[in-house]
This record gives sequence, structure tokens and C-alpha cells, in this order.
Amino acid sequence: MRAFELYDAASVADAVNLLKQNSDRTVKVVGGGSDLIGGIMKDWVHGNGLKFPDVLVDLTTIKDLTTISAGGDGATVGAAVTLSDVIDHKDLQAKFPLLVAAAQSVASPLIRNFGTLGGNVNQRPRCWFFRGEDFNCYKKGGDFCYAVTGDNRYHAIIGGELCYIVHPSDTATALLALNASAKIAGVNGDKTVKFDDYFIGPRQDVLRENVLTAGEFVTHVTIPNPASGTKQAWNKLKDRQVYDFALTSVAVSFTMSGNNWNDGRIVIGGVSPVPYRAKVVEDALKGKDIKATIKQAAAQIRTVARPMSLNAYKVDLAAGLIERTVLDALATN
Ligand SMILES: Cc1cc2nc3c(=O)[nH]c(=O)nc-3n(C[C@H](O)[C@H](O)[C@H](O)COP(=O)(O)OP(=O)(O)OC[C@H]3O[C@@H](n4cnc5c(N)ncnc54)[C@H](O)[C@@H]3O)c2cc1C
Ligand code: SF4
Repeated sequence: MRAFELYDAASVADAVNLLKQNSDRTVKVVGGGSDLIGGIMKDWVHGNGLKFPDVLVDLTTIKDLTTISAGGDGATVGAAVTLSDVIDHKDLQAKFPLLVAAAQSVASPLIRNFGTLGGNVNQRPRCWFFRGEDFNCYKKGGDFCYAVTGDNRYHAIIGGELCYIVHPSDTATALLALNASAKIAGVNGDKTVKFDDYFIGPRQDVLRENVLTAGEFVTHVTIPNPASGTKQAWNKLKDRQVYDFALTSVAVSFTMSGNNWNDGRIVIGGVSPVPYRAKVVEDALKGKDIKATIKQAAAQIRTVARPMSLNAYKVDLAAGLIERTVLDALATN
């Protein structure tokens, strides 16, 4: 691995200053480092549009970013909180079991013990051509997507264009279903962006997966309290059961009127360059008896899927998993 400078930020302001002072070099923030240091930098994932970082700013040394608070309005989770701390938090377990289940399904206990929520949401894609040193694809600033003619069994079935990655983060899928937002600090000031608007696909910018620009980072994630009676559930299918990324995952959060769907979100992971909100399924359920309609509604995902040569199986997985997850949520108290 190439040498880099590492700075322990003492506060959000200190981290912003470090980003500003090093803006003439390639500088990145780091959480647990399980992807950035253990993956991207170690594997030499770099290219014309993806420079190898010279400077890392550690966010886990900022106390405010390692705390969770939950109150009347909802929860605020620091970006440097570990996934294990998310899983163990009693208020999050009570109010946001969907997020806790998604965090629990990430990687292995060791990685969850030091991997952070901010790092999980902002981790880079797992496409094996992107991770391979020898493939200078679009996402690294090159002029080809190797997944189009190569082995694309794990790639996107919805929303791919130029690049066919699937967003790798389980917690991102859950946070979108929970209508959460990211608080962002940066050299040009602070802002809050709803996760509805946070993730961007290759059509918008093939080199990035979210709205963050150089010098910006997530400080906190905020999640509004769910309405009374909200049903939540999470399911994830993977190839290797001990730990693996999602072949397909589904996060649901919805309210009911009697036996009918009132309002809510169905978000699918592992199928698209961004966590994918399945509005086509939500619309088919609107105002209808859920048990009687769910199979037919879940099948609507087939109308938006455009599988590649080796991944049509994911369309069946998505339809089946949406149905299963909505029924799981119905069975909760
Ligand atoms: C073997 C293995 C299995 C895995 N399985 C899964 C899985 O099943 N599901 C899943 O979701 N993930 C999985 N991962 C990914 C892993 O969960 C993430 O690597 C981890 O959660 C990232 O956290 P981190 O703090 O270590 O990130 P880091 O490596 O520190 O950072 C990851 C990226 O996010 C950026 N970043 C970090 N914090 C912030 C912030 N606050 N604001 C903006 N950008 C930030 C960094 O610059 C970097 O680009 C797996 C990883 C491994 C190695
Ligand atoms: S899917 Fe995206 S990351 Fe993978 S090879 Fe194609 S352009 Fe590169």
C-alpha cells in the first residue's frame, strides 16, 4: 500500500479545516477504514477519474460523531457510530427495528465493531471490474464498462446506464425506507439532504454515488419518529450465508388503514446503482387490502426491470422478496 498522511480530527470544525488545508491534494475522510484502507487503497483501485488519496482525515476521533440520541422528534446518529453500536442501542431497537436489522446483516461481527454508519452509507461499489486493478472502466474515468460484455451476474437490473453497479450499502437501503436525512459539513458550509435526494446514479455522474463533493462529509444521520402503528421489516438474500453483500434486499416501512395500505415506502437494495424506491409497487398497494394484493403488486417490479445477460434471476428474487418482506412486516405487532 502507498504511504498516506493520517490526521485525527478533534471536532467537525477541525475536520473541515483539515479538508480545506489539504484541498490541493487528494484528501478523504475515513471512518473504520474497512473499505477505504482495507479495500480501495490496498487493492489499488484507482484510475484517471479516481485518484489515490494522499491524506486521510479520521472522523472517529470526533466525540460528537460517535453518539446516538433519540427523542420526541426522532433519532440522530453520529456518522462515526459503529454498526455494532447501532445494533445494541435500545431506542433504535424499539423505534427503528428495520435499521437495526439492516445493520445486523452487514458483513461480520468484527467489521461491524469498527465499521461506521457514515462509512457504510458512503462505501464505494463492489463491482469486480471496478475493484480489479487492470480494468480502467467508466467509473475510474476510463471509456468502457466491462460488465456489459463480461460477467454481470451481480450487477444492476434497474437504472443502469454507462455503469451497472449496485449500491452496496445495507443501511442506506433501510435509511431511505425510514425517510432519513444526512447532515453534511464542508468547506462551503453545512446543509441537510434527505436520502431521497442523496444518492445519484451514473447518468448524473458516473464517478460518484452521492451528492457529496470534495471537502464535504456526513456528520449525522437523522431519522424522524415513525407514525404510530408503522410496520417495518427487512430481508436480505445473499450467496454466501456467513456474510456477503446483498443479491437483493428489501426494506419496508408503512402505515395501514384497517387491512389496507395507507402510506409507506418499499426500498430495494442490490438491484440498482442507488437504493431503489419501488414506487411502482407502492402505487399498486395504495388503499388496497395488503394480503389480497401483495403478490400482484410485487410483480409490478417486472415492469421496470431491464436485466443484463446473466442476472435475470434477480427480477424473480426482487418480486419474491418484496412479497415476503411486506408479509413479514404485517405479522409484527
Ligand atoms: C468482507 C466484507 C464484507 C462486507 N459486507 C457488507 C455487507 O454485507 N453489507 C454492507 O452494507 N457492507 C458490507 N461491507 C462493507 C462494510 O460494511 C463497510 O466497509 C463498512 O461499514 C464501512 O465502514 P467504515 O467506517 O469502515 O468505512 P471506511 O472504509 O472508513 O469508509 C468507506 C468510504 O466512505 C467514506 N466515508 C466514511 N465516513 C464518511 C462520512 N462520515 N461522510 C462521507 N464519507 C465517508 C470514506 O471516504 C470511504 O470512501 C463489507 C466489507 C467487507 C470488508
Ligand atoms: S459496472 Fe460500473 S464499475 Fe463496473 S465495470 Fe462497468 S463502469 Fe465499471
